[in-house]
Amino acid sequence: MKEVIKIREVPASQRSSTFDEVVLGYGEQEILQEAARCLQCKNPVCIQGCPVGIDIKKFIYHITKKDYAASYLTIKEKNNFPSICGRVCPAEYQCRKSCILTKKGSPFASEQAINIHFLERFVGDYGNKEKIGAPKEGKDELAGQKVAVVGSGPAGLCCAGELARKGIKVTIFESLHEPGGVLRYGIPPFRLPRDILDFEIKYLEKLGVTTIPNYIIGKTKMLDELFKEGYSAVFLGLGAGTPSFLNIAGENLGNVYSANEFLTRVNLMSAFKYPEYHTPVNVGKRMIIIGGGNTAMDAARAAIRLQNMSGIKPNTAIFYRRTEIEMPARRLEIEHAKEEGIEFEFLVQPVAFGGDDNGHVRKLRCLRCELGEPDASGRRRPVAIANSEFETDCDVAIIAVGLQANTVLTNVTPGLKVDKYKDIIVDPETMQTSIAGVYAGGDIVGGEGTVIEAMSMGKKASVAIVDYLKSKAKKV
Ligand code: FAD
Ligand code: SF4
Repeated sequence: MKEVIKIREVPASQRSSTFDEVVLGYGEQEILQEAARCLQCKNPVCIQGCPVGIDIKKFIYHITKKDYAASYLTIKEKNNFPSICGRVCPAEYQCRKSCILTKKGSPFASEQAINIHFLERFVGDYGNKEKIGAPKEGKDELAGQKVAVVGSGPAGLCCAGELARKGIKVTIFESLHEPGGVLRYGIPPFRLPRDILDFEIKYLEKLGVTTIPNYIIGKTKMLDELFKEGYSAVFLGLGAGTPSFLNIAGENLGNVYSANEFLTRVNLMSAFKYPEYHTPVNVGKRMIIIGGGNTAMDAARAAIRLQNMSGIKPNTAIFYRRTEIEMPARRLEIEHAKEEGIEFEFLVQPVAFGGDDNGHVRKLRCLRCELGEPDASGRRRPVAIANSEFETDCDVAIIAVGLQANTVLTNVTPGLKVDKYKDIIVDPETMQTSIAGVYAGGDIVGGEGTVIEAMSMGKKASVAIVDYLKSKAKKV
């Protein structure tokens, strides 16, 4: 078996004081060596692990022939943003986990599995650099029809791009001042450089997509007004932007942030460049992040960078109620967090925050836990151990224990059906909601997911929207 080709990264000592990209990716020689490890299986099981079914075997084959343009177009058949997915997809739970080279029964991909996402990243960056783009489909009878997309996260961007390629006039309405959704305000630039995201958004502009920022559908304008203004269909990619909390005493003390607020200040408002940018964020002497997902890793890695940049001795810890193996975060992010000096405290359950006379958080009280029987998620449930309470210093706390549906629009739109979690109910085949001509996808359908899942729903909806517009056009 040929040896796995290691990815190039900025050493931890150099990267923890900047927001520059950490993973540098493969060069051409390395990508050829890594692609040569692929067995070109008769039954390429890796494809089953990809939520959008990219023909992985084929795109890797084209790499081995140095035909990167063909490789790029193969990926583009299923995935609109390979440079983004190659950087953020949790491949160890998806394609790489399904790769034949992963040991049977592993909870995530074995190290030997082909580094499919890093190959995808190289090819995506190549396609962007060479301006290959996705094949245009030419204008047809739908040219000039208007569709509104609400939300500019991966679901909305993907849906908009697919519709624009068919000559449909797409307008994206975004409540924030910059497009990208979580790709902009959640995932830090050290994981996803902003020029990569900006490139994809500019490409949509070239296809004729218009983005209107600072515009909340459900407040600035209601959903039905969009139809009155001549939009024939609407796609809702509203995301899951409402943070969950622990609901424990002291959670309302000063310097207890939701991870969403903390990351938005840092990533979207550039608080790491304060006072050059006007939004500050408080940096503590001991910053504790509660949670075990990607959001927790991003918040912790941003926090330790802020400490380093402010000249504060780095002291950032992640508190998680299960063990490392149950952490839903990408394995690479957990490794990077450890390398950057973040402390991990496993099997702990916060019970209360304590504050000072000024109303600022100073302490966190927790119970130790042990693992019990599996819960609905299939992971072993944390069970608090009696009399195990302990207290630790904490002058900034960041809560990263999950996200829920953004309800600004759904709360004020009669006839738009939602489930008990306030997620929009859709027909899974077409992504159509309970209102004719209104489609939805991404985290607002089925809760917090991944970038590629959101994109795949945006793409599926675009197909149904085209059918809907065509059937409407026939009736006229
Ligand atoms: P979002 O990305 O949430 O975008 C929704 C957009 O809609 C937002 O810009 C919002 O402002 C806008 N909006 C909402 N309501 C309105 C309205 N009424 N009017 C106008 N605009 C509105 N997934 C991965 O695959 N890999 C990762 O590494 C990863 N890391 C993550 C890190 C963090 C910090 C977070 C929070 C999530 C991460 N995820 C990751 C999950 C992934 O980012 C989401 O699943 C994905 O972004 C969902 O896409 P979306 O388009 O549904 O919604
Ligand atoms: Fe086989 Fe893995 Fe190559 Fe897919 S990536 S064709 S499963 S070796």
